[in-house]
Amino acid sequence: MPLLSVLSLCVQYQTAQGTVRAVDDVSFELEDGETVGLVGESGCGKSTLGKAIMRLVPSSDGRVVLDGQDITSMPNAQLKSVRKNMQMIFQDPYGSLNPRHDVGTIIGQPLSVAGWSRRDIRDRVTELIRQVGLPADAERRYPHEFSGGQRQRVGIARALALQPKVIICDEPVSALDVSVRAQVINLLQDLQQQTGVSFLFISNDLSVVEHISDRLIVMYLGRIVESGSGEEIWRQPAHPYTLALLAAAPIADPRLARGRAKQVLQGELPSPLNPPQGCSFHERCPMARERCGKERPLLRKVSGGRMVACHYDLLEQPAELPRVVSVAS
Ligand code: SF4
Repeated sequence: MPLLSVLSLCVQYQTAQGTVRAVDDVSFELEDGETVGLVGESGCGKSTLGKAIMRLVPSSDGRVVLDGQDITSMPNAQLKSVRKNMQMIFQDPYGSLNPRHDVGTIIGQPLSVAGWSRRDIRDRVTELIRQVGLPADAERRYPHEFSGGQRQRVGIARALALQPKVIICDEPVSALDVSVRAQVINLLQDLQQQTGVSFLFISNDLSVVEHISDRLIVMYLGRIVESGSGEEIWRQPAHPYTLALLAAAPIADPRLARGRAKQVLQGELPSPLNPPQGCSFHERCPMARERCGKERPLLRKVSGGRMVACHYDLLEQPAELPRVVSVAS
C-alpha cells in the first residue's frame, strides 16, 4: 500500500468572473522513502495541489489517503493527530517564520502543540539544530539574524520535529541564492537517508527537481500531462510541454545538451478561468494539429510506468511531428 495516495483530486474556486479549476482530477502515489518531483510553470496549480493534500485549502472532489487513512473529510480534531505524519516546507523561509519568536520556539512549536514536555522539547530542538547544520547557539537567536539558506534550515528543522512520514516541499530553494540551493538540496537528501521520510518536491525548475526525484510529475493548467521516472523523462520527454520545460532548464552534462532539441515555448499560461477547448496546451504547442483543438487527450500509459496526456507519441518520434521546432539563440 502506498504511503500517500492522491485520488482524482480537484480544487475549484468561485470568483466574480466564474469558476477556477486550479487542480483538475489529479491522481498519483508516493511510496515510503521516495521523492516525487512536481513541476510546472507558476500558476499551473502545483502549490495549490500541495496545500490541498495538506488540507490547507479545501478540495472540491477526490480523496487523499495517508498511511491507509482517508484524510479528505476527517474532522479537525482527528486530523491533528494524523497531520504530524505530514508536514510542509514553504517557499519563503522568512515569511514562514514568526520574526518575534526565537529559533528554539519556532522549531519547538509543533512539539508544544503535540503536548511534549518543556524538557523533551529542549532536547529535541537541540538535536534538530545539529541535524540541519545550524550553529549551536541558533536556539536563542531570531530569524533576521540568519541568511536565507539558514532560515530555510530552520523551516526544515521545524518540519522534521515530529518525525513525519511525508514532507511537502513547496519550492523550498527557489527564493535562495543559486550558491546555497545545492547545500539545501543536499541537506534534504541526507535527511531522507537518515530518517526515511518521503518528499513531494514542488518546483518550477525541472533541473532542480530531476536531480533529487525518483519520479516526476509534470502539471499544466491544473492537470498532469506527463509522469514517470525522473531519469527517463529527463533523457526523453514524451509530452511537448515537458520538452519545452527541459529546453529551458540548464544542462550540466554537455553530452546530454548536445543531443537535446531546442524549443522555445511561446505565449503565456492560459487563464484557468477560461481554459482552451480540447488539449489545454494546444494554443502554445508547436506540434498541435486540428484534432488537438477539439478533443482533450486523456492521460494514458505509453511505456513502463510512463503516463502522457497527448494524442501523439513523441517516444515513437513519428516523422510527421517535428522534433526540433525552433532553435533558441
Ligand atoms: Fe500538443 Fe496536440 Fe499533444 Fe496537446 S495533444 S500536447 S496540442 S500534440
